[in-house]
Amino acid sequence: MKVAIIGAGVSGIACAHELERYGVKPVIFERNSFIGEQFSHVASLLEVTHRPIRDALRLIHKKYDIDIKPLNTINTLVHNAPQKTSTIKGNLGYFIFRGRENNDLKKQIFSQLKGTEVRFNENVYYDALEGMYDHIVISSGEPSMTDELGCWQEWFQGYERGAVVLGNFDPNTQIMWVNKNYCKKGYAYLAPYNKNKAFITLVVSDVDEKEIDAYWEEFLYTENIKYTIIEEFKLEHLAGYAYPNKVNNIYFIGNAGGALDSFLGFGQVNAIVTGIMAARSICTGEDYEKLIKPITRRTKQFYEFRKAFNNLTNDNYDTLIRSIGLSGVKQILYQSSLNIPKYGAKFLRINKKKR
Ligand SMILES: Cc1cc2nc3c(=O)[nH]c(=O)nc-3n(C[C@H](O)[C@H](O)[C@H](O)COP(=O)(O)OP(=O)(O)OC[C@H]3O[C@@H](n4cnc5c(N)ncnc54)[C@H](O)[C@@H]3O)c2cc1C
Repeated sequence: MKVAIIGAGVSGIACAHELERYGVKPVIFERNSFIGEQFSHVASLLEVTHRPIRDALRLIHKKYDIDIKPLNTINTLVHNAPQKTSTIKGNLGYFIFRGRENNDLKKQIFSQLKGTEVRFNENVYYDALEGMYDHIVISSGEPSMTDELGCWQEWFQGYERGAVVLGNFDPNTQIMWVNKNYCKKGYAYLAPYNKNKAFITLVVSDVDEKEIDAYWEEFLYTENIKYTIIEEFKLEHLAGYAYPNKVNNIYFIGNAGGALDSFLGFGQVNAIVTGIMAARSICTGEDYEKLIKPITRRTKQFYEFRKAFNNLTNDNYDTLIRSIGLSGVKQILYQSSLNIPKYGAKFLRINKKKR
């Protein structure tokens, strides 16, 4: 069986890993000359966003035989609203390295492949491969091909500006900010590489590449952030819904398949799982839509969460962050198995009414 994967993304490499387990060796077309990330960053894998799964890395190892070593565990989460801060402690998740070095997430999964061919410097469109392969899997990390095939609905558009900074950091602490003045409906966060280096990023909704610069300056000024910047990047941030997730023999996986959540823009675990499920569907004939139903359901819940979040004001953010810090609420949100995406929108609406 001939399978082509467009993009050596997290999802595409995971798809190749599962295809190999079924005895199929795909060909991956990658537009870059390397496996890894263009822009170095630290990504989070927060337990609270993956429930009922408690430990996504352990599950991925157990169920799919993929080993991923995190950069660090997350044991402290600091939430900042304009006037309030709350701090959560516990086993909150993992930091994952993304970049060019060997501990990058893609490189880690790639190193577990056994013979899949990668054709580098190949920027391909699906139509160039039609007729040459039995199946085409789109793992391009963005929805342009999904959109062209009439399967994309946009849910969040914005720009992201990020930087690698030097300073003093706690390697196990993630810091998050929400403030309408500089993020609009978006957010900002800091995730450390180690004690001296961190990744800091701002996602602003409904802005273009030029407009985000003013918001970035406002963010640094408001939060009095004066770290030394050693690298910087800007990217468009798109999240949305893909349906159907398969057109004839073409599969959409990862971000191209709407697997990026539209609440925090997290998509690593969904990318891995959609890649694996596409491989299963190809090899067993099982219905891909059915296999990824739990992910589709969850992305819809995150969308509802996002819509409720969009209606909040800075005062609402203060109330929300203060209530997250209350011991009872903290317990329910972070120490129970409550499905946050499912009930999150309701929680936000109640909080808004309380004011
Ligand atoms: C700065 C940043 C921070 C993030 N933080 C988090 C986080 O904290 N937590 C989290 O869970 N997720 C986070 N994400 C999202 C997460 O990285 C993505 O959801 C995940 O990588 C998506 O995997 P993918 O396989 O869809 O695409 P990607 O991993 O993006 O890979 C796409 C690949 O396809 C290649 N490609 C694209 N078009 C073509 C083409 N036409 N031909 C050939 N190759 C092509 C690209 O070069 C790339 O290698 C973050 C993303 C970014 C950019």
